[in-house]
Amino acid sequence: MFQPTLAQARHQLKDKKYSAVELLQAVYKRIDAFDSRVQAYVHLTRDIALKQAEAADQKISAGEDAPLLGIPIALKDLICMQGARTTCASHILEQFVSPYDATVVKRLKDAGAVLIGKTNMDEFAMGSSNENSWFHPTHNPWDLTRVPGGSSGGSGAAVAANECIAALGSDTGGSIRQPAGFCGITGLKPTYGRVSRFGLVAFASSFDQIGPMTKSVEDAALLMNVIAGHDPMDTTSADVPVPDYSAALPQSVKGLKMGIPKEYFTSGIDPEVERAVQNAIQSLESMGIEKVEVSLPHTEYAVATYYVLACAEASTNLSRYDGVRYGFRSEKSGTLMDMYTNTREEGFGEEVKRRILLGTFVLSSGYYDAYYLKGQKVRTLIKQDFDEAYKKCNVIVAPISPAPAFKFNEKLDDPLQMYLSDIFTISANLAGIPAMSIPCGLSEAGLPIGLQLMGKHFDEATLLNVGHQFQQTTDHHLKHPKL
Ligand code: GLN
Repeated sequence: MFQPTLAQARHQLKDKKYSAVELLQAVYKRIDAFDSRVQAYVHLTRDIALKQAEAADQKISAGEDAPLLGIPIALKDLICMQGARTTCASHILEQFVSPYDATVVKRLKDAGAVLIGKTNMDEFAMGSSNENSWFHPTHNPWDLTRVPGGSSGGSGAAVAANECIAALGSDTGGSIRQPAGFCGITGLKPTYGRVSRFGLVAFASSFDQIGPMTKSVEDAALLMNVIAGHDPMDTTSADVPVPDYSAALPQSVKGLKMGIPKEYFTSGIDPEVERAVQNAIQSLESMGIEKVEVSLPHTEYAVATYYVLACAEASTNLSRYDGVRYGFRSEKSGTLMDMYTNTREEGFGEEVKRRILLGTFVLSSGYYDAYYLKGQKVRTLIKQDFDEAYKKCNVIVAPISPAPAFKFNEKLDDPLQMYLSDIFTISANLAGIPAMSIPCGLSEAGLPIGLQLMGKHFDEATLLNVGHQFQQTTDHHLKHPKL
């Protein structure tokens, strides 16, 4: 079966095993064959991609090179790409065509990538299952009756189904890592500020980060080399030197210390998940990484803190969709106030409205101190937990989610159940630290299980190093769903 990783495709393009146009056609052939069932994409950018692939072939024949020359890449549909629709899987932005490129898109283009389409997601990245998309749900390629995770479920499913070579997602509370875990692929949420957010449609601006979703850690490093780094267009992007992530991969991991947070191995975790994660910890130990127990005592407050703060930020960010400047406007427009109200009532889905209401409530005078301000204080405590833990270790190892992919409609009617399933991913966003999901086994039902590696601020290199070494000695990441 045709399923090259990014690293393999790079070599095969260079060796002229196939051209960039042929590679693109092979990827579209897979999309044509499988996406009617997986539904990973919301729209394809065939014309743009073909031109980019042809340009890549010209460069290849002229002997030129670039880090992603001719590589087909998919983008989550909240990353702006000039001339393409950017819908955030929302009715309110259904017809919005971006007039500019996000910084990550500009960097991908400069690196020679071929941008093949936009992937499905939960509306405005709010959700953990892709069931909140205005368009359609995405199906998990390992079991089409189950969700791919969310909110970057389209990117996760596209990578797992081999309907792209690699993809970008975004992670506000786990949206790269949890779908990576559910779909059996690699997903990295970089440190807050590592990758520019310019051109990423905002959900919760103090949490959002773009990151790679790939078939291997090696591929994640290749993408990070392109997208990471300071951007004057994003004032929260950090001016911190970017190492060569690929150069970090082969380093020895002997003598590193991994912290096992006791709060992540309590009741409520599926025994199969626990077993797979414990086996992975043993593999890491046999690679020479020393195990130490650490404590993250404020973990139990993470879900509540995140949903207060992220909804507060969302309620502010989403106030710009008022029917005046962007996208959809209700037909039922009498007075200006009616126009605003009807546009937002008809344009947003249930979950988005729930969060706008929650966020507006926690920011309103009289409740601000009790919820928003308190949430900010707890956020600091959670960050301090990690600062303390990293005095004893280089990485923290944990599960990604309490259970493997769930069935459609299993949690849809119970938002609290859905929110609680984010328990293991949210703390990294609250603390702003980098965190990665890599496959660590399959359940008895054949569903992927994810392992989480969390790192110190701006130390993606150690995560990638440990993850890559793990993938050198295990084969979990080489398994593919049968479609
Ligand atoms: N599942 C979380 C939420 O619904 C995370 C979303 C995300 O990271 N974008 O908010």
